[in-house]
Amino acid sequence: MSYCNQCPNRCNIDRDLNIGGCGVKNKVKIAKYYLHPYEEPMISGCNGSGCVFFSGCSLKCTFCQNYELSHEARGKEFTVNQLAEIFKQLENDGAHNINLVNPTHYTEQIINALEIYRPNIPIVWNTHGYETLETLKKADPYIDVYLTDLKYFSPNRSFRYAKKANYFEVAEKAVKFMLASKKPVIEDGLMKKGVIVRHLVLPQNVDESVKILHFLKDILGNNYLSIMAQYTPFGFLDDTPELKRKITKREYKTVTDYALSLGFENLFLQDEDSCDTSFIPKWDF
Ligand code: SF4
Repeated sequence: MSYCNQCPNRCNIDRDLNIGGCGVKNKVKIAKYYLHPYEEPMISGCNGSGCVFFSGCSLKCTFCQNYELSHEARGKEFTVNQLAEIFKQLENDGAHNINLVNPTHYTEQIINALEIYRPNIPIVWNTHGYETLETLKKADPYIDVYLTDLKYFSPNRSFRYAKKANYFEVAEKAVKFMLASKKPVIEDGLMKKGVIVRHLVLPQNVDESVKILHFLKDILGNNYLSIMAQYTPFGFLDDTPELKRKITKREYKTVTDYALSLGFENLFLQDEDSCDTSFIPKWDF
């Protein structure tokens, strides 16, 4: 992987020497790993999801709640062997799954770590959805569950919030690939295989949410949709003043009522009190 083209940014640079658009070199950087209680119930279960929060990001939304990781690449470096040990430790601690949070820019290293130690619990690929098919196809044999965002529909909105006009064009193919690859298997209330598509409702963006739902209604099948209310103003928002507030009850209700009217059945909804910075983990490294 001397020349990195792992994500749609296709920097084509040597990450042993240079930092790409994701903000990190080849060495795996992690800001925290622990049993996380706040994913969807069929991911967190009663013990928690074994989350590994990777540093750097290939999308970098302006409002990211994990800003220190995604934009500033906060974290500590680990070898691939140490990453495999982290997987083992989380499994021994009782994690229901290994939840790779924002893994794309470390795909090769994660595959290498899983070759060293493959836990006997599901592997969750927790992604922003801005993925190339080449990278997904490489990672797919190691993945049991896709937990993917589908954030923006319109090029002007994805450019405004993440400087990527092609977000939907790319994510549409990625989400279709994920849905074709993993049919849901649920045991004792926990997802063993499958896809959860997450959509975060943003202030003054109900029209985008409606378009996303409309797109998903024909392709989701019996996989799952999670409509998230937890948007919390964070990061540098002076250029996007509409994002300086939480969403209103009315905005969230409009989106969720529309989802129900379209007939989505496997649906996760959130309480309004999920919008709080106390839900953002405290970073360890
Ligand atoms: S993973 Fe990083 S270096 Fe590689 S193509 Fe994407 S942004 Fe560029």
